[in-house]
Amino acid sequence: MRLDLHSHSLASHDCDTPLELIAPACKVAGIDVLAVTDHNEIWGALELSKYAVPDLQIIVGEEVYTTEGEIIGLFLTELIPRNLTPEVTVERIHAQGGIALLPHGFDPLKPSRLTPKARARVADRLEVIEGLNGHVSWTGWNAQAALWGNLNGKPLSAGSDAHRAKDLGSVYVETPTRTIATPADLLEALKVGNLQGRWRNPVLSFFKERLFRQGVPSQP
Ligand SMILES: [Zn+2]
Repeated sequence: MRLDLHSHSLASHDCDTPLELIAPACKVAGIDVLAVTDHNEIWGALELSKYAVPDLQIIVGEEVYTTEGEIIGLFLTELIPRNLTPEVTVERIHAQGGIALLPHGFDPLKPSRLTPKARARVADRLEVIEGLNGHVSWTGWNAQAALWGNLNGKPLSAGSDAHRAKDLGSVYVETPTRTIATPADLLEALKVGNLQGRWRNPVLSFFKERLFRQGVPSQP
C-alpha cells in the first residue's frame, strides 16, 4: 500500500490543481492513501473526502502556518486558523483527534519551516516527522529530518508536497498495512513503512511550474 502524506490542491494559494484531477493522478502513481494538506485551508480535502473514489482514501489535513513556521495536522474535521503559536496549533490538532506532523523541518532555505526553537519546544507532542519530502531545497535536509525523527523515536512519513497533479505520488510510504481507518492505524503503518520516491530539484521545479500547467505545455 502506498501513502503520500503531503499534497496540495487548488485550495492552496500557490497551487491550481483541480480537485477532479487528483484521484486520476493518484491512480497513475499507484497511490492508495493521499493526505491533502493545503496551506491554511481544508475545504478542498473535505470536498475530496466526500466524493473519494473507491481506490483512493483521502486523509483530511492542513499545513498550518503558525507564528513560528508550519505544522501539518492530519485527520482533521475543522479548519485550524493560521498564526496561532506552535503549541496552540498542536493542541488544536490533538483536540480534533488528529496527528501533528513536522513537514520539511530541517530545510533552512524554506522560510516557512518550523523554527528550531519551536521544534524543540513541541518535539514531545509531534507524532510524525516527515523524513522524505519531494520539495525540499536539498536532499540532505531530508536525511537530517529522518535522523532527528529516528533519534526521537518518531515514525517517519513521506510526502510529495506536490503543487502540480503530475507530482502527486512522486514520494510515498510503502507499507504492508492494508487498512488505515484511524490515526492509530496510520502510526502503526508508518512504523513498518519504507520511504520511497524521487526528490525534485526545486530550481527546475520553479521554472516548470511557471512554464507548464498540469504537465501539459501551454505552447509546443
Ligand atoms: Zn506543503
